[in-house]
Amino acid sequence: MRGIEPPLRAWEARVLPLNHTRIALRRLKAILRLTMKTVKKIIEILFPGTQKKAFYAAVRCKDCGEEVRIRINRSSDFQMAHDSSNPSHYFTVKKEVMGKDCFNLMGLTLALTNNASLLFADVKGCEFITFDRERD
Ligand SMILES: [Zn+2]
Repeated sequence: MRGIEPPLRAWEARVLPLNHTRIALRRLKAILRLTMKTVKKIIEILFPGTQKKAFYAAVRCKDCGEEVRIRINRSSDFQMAHDSSNPSHYFTVKKEVMGKDCFNLMGLTLALTNNASLLFADVKGCEFITFDRERD
């Protein structure tokens, strides 16, 4: 005679362990996400500023002499370089800016190494002044 529980059918036997795996993976993902957040916070406390990925360049307008600061984001402004003649040229940054008081369009192209050190700067309509990592 059969009990109250119906017998486990073959497909249920296969589906149940899969569901357990899915739930376990979801929990693992949530734990990893929390861990990464915590690790980032700890790094920010131990090494302040290193989690910021911004750089600044400065140029001087050839027409009016105005000095313009340019913010450079590592995530959006760094492009992989395709420079076979110079293997240490790893990133290229291209920016176009205009000052406050004149319509001279200034162009800045930076060639950077893999650790974001400046190799050379190419300018149009301006003078290159500096390239620096953001400091607090
Ligand atoms: Zn100008």
